[in-house]
Amino acid sequence: MTASHSVFCDDYDPNSLSISEASQRILLAMSPPQGVEWVSVRNSLGRILANDLVAPHDVPAHRNSAMDGYAFRWQDLHDQKHETRVHLKLVGVSAAGHPFQGHIPPMAAVRIMTGAVVPDDADTVIMQERVTPEQSKGQITFNADAIPALGSNIRLPGEDLKAQVLALPAGRLMRPADIGLAASLGLAEVPVRPKLRVAFFSTGDELCSLGQTSKVGQILDSNRYTLFGMLEKMNVEWHDLGVVKDSPEALEEAFQRASQCAEVIISSGGVSVGDADFVRSILDRLGRTVFWKIAIKPGRPFAYGQFTGDKHFFGLPGNPVAVMVTFYQIVRPALMRLQGRHPLPSPLLLQAQTLTSLKKMPGRFEFQRGVLSRTEQGDWQVNATGEQGSGMLSSMSLANCFIRLPESSGKIEAGAWVEVEPFDEAL
Ligand code: AMP
Ligand code: MG
Repeated sequence: MTASHSVFCDDYDPNSLSISEASQRILLAMSPPQGVEWVSVRNSLGRILANDLVAPHDVPAHRNSAMDGYAFRWQDLHDQKHETRVHLKLVGVSAAGHPFQGHIPPMAAVRIMTGAVVPDDADTVIMQERVTPEQSKGQITFNADAIPALGSNIRLPGEDLKAQVLALPAGRLMRPADIGLAASLGLAEVPVRPKLRVAFFSTGDELCSLGQTSKVGQILDSNRYTLFGMLEKMNVEWHDLGVVKDSPEALEEAFQRASQCAEVIISSGGVSVGDADFVRSILDRLGRTVFWKIAIKPGRPFAYGQFTGDKHFFGLPGNPVAVMVTFYQIVRPALMRLQGRHPLPSPLLLQAQTLTSLKKMPGRFEFQRGVLSRTEQGDWQVNATGEQGSGMLSSMSLANCFIRLPESSGKIEAGAWVEVEPFDEAL
């Protein structure tokens, strides 16, 4: 990393740091993990692959039939094309898991099932729908014009994966198809990255935890629940450190506890101008921190720090929607890199027609909340979820996408096309 790319350098105006600039700087400060853990293939679901997985053998390992039918030697029928009907003696069966053991003499066939091994003597399979079995005569017959081409209906060894090819690359998030593929390669255990450990807490004297009786002026802490949900979906090992009072002692104690159990510490609240000082002074002692005003809405105040032994700190704003937006847009890609995911997935962006006008002033990148649906014609349309206050978690709950309005854009008229980012799975 060059000094000019360091997250801590001072060559920018903190009042106008763009979301893409902030994300880039933070990503550059993240290094992929080193550790490797071997887990059973089932337990690798949702984990990040630590090493490349190479196919130890061909998949499929044997020539096998793609159809239920009859296997024969194509050359035997080569000179029968002028006949109207051809006859083959039936000499046995090759069933899935029970290969035919014998030899196929000239002008003979073997009954074969889908997936069963094609006997060495055969090179072509005819599907059963084309064939009339004549059990009593121990033969099958079919029309000469139904003779399939040489090699028909046979799956070749290595058709799915050849031995020694890269089957799954390191950095892959193991999905259901991937664990199935690993199983098809005979890999009972796979190497994955250790789970990333993330501790989080909320800050604010006004906060009251679920289960406590709230006094006048108190509000219930929701950020620890949205953070829990988003972290759980990322398959990290999370530690909820509760609500921390706005005092230097309480914060310092929270940072100490967090650094004992996690590599990443996430807080919400207490990073806007005026109340950032406790966090700043503590982190200045323990490491180094930057406080940014990122030009996004919601979510302007944001802190990032590093301290003792490569711990990463993300200080999110307090407002509930801002927590979710900054987590999703900035923290989540950073955590993916710390988890070892490679390459990082690009967001799915669609163009949709807005059903309402959208309030917007040029200057900040806005992530408004919307409900994306399809018109009868098959186009995407988006309906903003009403008022867009950064404290209104109900708008986030209703939404299934962000409406992404870039810095330069002003008010958007109804009917205009806007960029949307669906988030159903992740949020
Ligand atoms: P702050 O950044 O600490 O000034 O907080 C900004 C706003 O978010 C204030 O209205 C807080 O009451 C609210 N807020 C902060 N933390 C939470 C939380 N954990 N749950 C719900 N609201 C919060
Ligand atoms: Mg606060």
